[in-house]
Amino acid sequence: MSTPPVQKTSPTFVGMPKFPTAAREALANTQQRSNLRNATHTIREKRAAVVAEVPEWEALRLAGAAAKDEALHHLGDYLEQVEASLTANGATVHWARDADEANQIVVDIARSKGVDEVVKVKSMATQEIELNEALEAAGISAWETDLAELIVQLFGDRPSHILVPAIHRNRTEIRDVFLREMATFGRPAPEDLTDDPARLAEAARLHLREKFLRAKVAVSGANFAIADTGTLVVVESEGNGRMCLTLPETLISVVGIEKVLPTWDDLAPMLQLLPRSSTGERMNPYTTMWSGVHDDDGPQEVHVILLDNGRSHVLADSVGRQALRCIRCSACLNVCPVYERTGGHAYGSVYPGPIGAVLNPQLRGTASEVDQSLPYASSLCGACFDACPVRINIPELLVELRGTVAQQGGHRAESAAMKAAAWVLSDPRRLAVAQKGATTAGRLIGKRTVRSVPGLGAWTDARDVPTPPKETFRQWWVREHDGREGERPGPGRADGIPGKEGETR
Ligand code: SF4
Repeated sequence: MSTPPVQKTSPTFVGMPKFPTAAREALANTQQRSNLRNATHTIREKRAAVVAEVPEWEALRLAGAAAKDEALHHLGDYLEQVEASLTANGATVHWARDADEANQIVVDIARSKGVDEVVKVKSMATQEIELNEALEAAGISAWETDLAELIVQLFGDRPSHILVPAIHRNRTEIRDVFLREMATFGRPAPEDLTDDPARLAEAARLHLREKFLRAKVAVSGANFAIADTGTLVVVESEGNGRMCLTLPETLISVVGIEKVLPTWDDLAPMLQLLPRSSTGERMNPYTTMWSGVHDDDGPQEVHVILLDNGRSHVLADSVGRQALRCIRCSACLNVCPVYERTGGHAYGSVYPGPIGAVLNPQLRGTASEVDQSLPYASSLCGACFDACPVRINIPELLVELRGTVAQQGGHRAESAAMKAAAWVLSDPRRLAVAQKGATTAGRLIGKRTVRSVPGLGAWTDARDVPTPPKETFRQWWVREHDGREGERPGPGRADGIPGKEGETR
C-alpha cells in the first residue's frame, strides 16, 4: 500500500487579536460579508419555517432546558453512571482534565494501533483541544470527512461557524480549492469540475471514500451521551459520520462532560429541537447511536474520553453554568447581527457568535485581550435568547461577564465612566448639579449636532452624540405643577431651579 499523503497544517486561534481589531479586518472583506449574509439568512428562514410548524415549541424548549439542567445539577452522579454503562457495554472510558491529557490519550491509542492516519467525524470538542495539530505533531494525519470541514482543511483555513465551518466561502472558491488541493491529499478532483453543488459533493465523496475504506482508526465527538443506557449519539447530514462510526476497527470518541443526558427519554425533545434549530430540518438525515462493542458489527474497540477542559469551572458559576446547556445548534449565530457582519474568525475560537462570546471567556478565563473583549461583541438585542432551543439567556451572561471583566480592571474607560455615573446617581444633589450642567450645555449647543467628544472617540466616531435636552424632567415638572416638586414646595428642591410662581396650565 502506498504511503498516505500528509495532512495540511491549518492555523489555530492562538494569539488572535481582540474582537474589535479582528472584526475591523473582517468587515473590510466584502466577499465574506456577502457570503455570510446569504448563508445566515437562508438558514434563518428555513429554521423559522420549521419551528413555526410545531405548536408546542416552547414546551419542547422547556423540556430540553430541564433535561440539561437535571444533568448539570447532578453531573458527578450522571458521569459515574455513564462511565459504568459504557464500560458494561464493552467501551473503555478515559478521563481528561484538559486538552493535553485528551490529546495524549488519542495519540497513544492511535500509536498502539500502528497507524499514521485517522478519519474524523466533525467534532467541536476535538477542534477545541486542537487534536489535529497534536496528531500531526505525533506524525499522524487526521482527515476531516465532513464536507465543510474538508473544505476548511483544504484551504488551510480556520472554521468560522459551528455548523457550517466554511460558511465564509462560496461555491466558486470551493471549486477552485478542490481543483488546486485535492490531488495533494488523495484522489484529485475531476478536471472538468464546475461549481454545481452536486458536482462538488460528488468530488468530495470520491475523494473521501478511499480514506474511509483505508482507515483503521476513527475519531468522533458526540452530540449526547445517555447515562442510563451508555449510548453515544451523533447527528449529521452527510453520512460521513456513519461511515467513520461503523467502518474502522477502532473508534475514539472525545466527549465534553456537559454532553450527558440522564435518560434515554431525554433524547426525544433533543432530537426535535436540534435539527429544526440547526439545519432547519424536521429530523437529521443520519442519527447514529452506539453503545460499546458488538461482535462482528462495527468497531471492535471503542474508547470514550470524557473531557473537562474548563467545564467544571463553568459549572461552579450559578449564572454562567447555563452555557453548558448548549447543544451546538448554531441558531444563535444565524440570527446575530454582529456575527452576520464579522463572521466567526473574529471571535478567536472554534466557538464563534453569541455562544462563543460567553463560552470562551468562561472556559478560558478572562486573562487575554480577546477573552476580555468577547462579552462586548454584542448589541444585547436578545435575538440569540429567542432562538436558543435550550433557552440559554445569552444577554444575561454577557452582562455578567462584562461585570467580571470590569471588576478585573479590563475596559478601564467604561469602568471609570460607570463608577462616575454611580457616584452621581447615588445622591440627588449631585444628580441635580449634573442635570443642570447638561441642560446648560444643551441650551448652548442649540440645534447643532455633536459629532465628537474628546476622550470618547471610540464611541462618537461611529455615532452622533444626543444633544442634551434644554430642560430636565424635574424642571419640566416644576414648571408644569406650579412650582411643586412632588409634595414638596419649590424652595429647597434638589435641582435648585426656582419655580415659576403663579404659572397655570
Ligand atoms: S447557545 Fe443555544 S442557540 Fe446557540 S448554539 Fe448553543 S444551543 Fe444553539
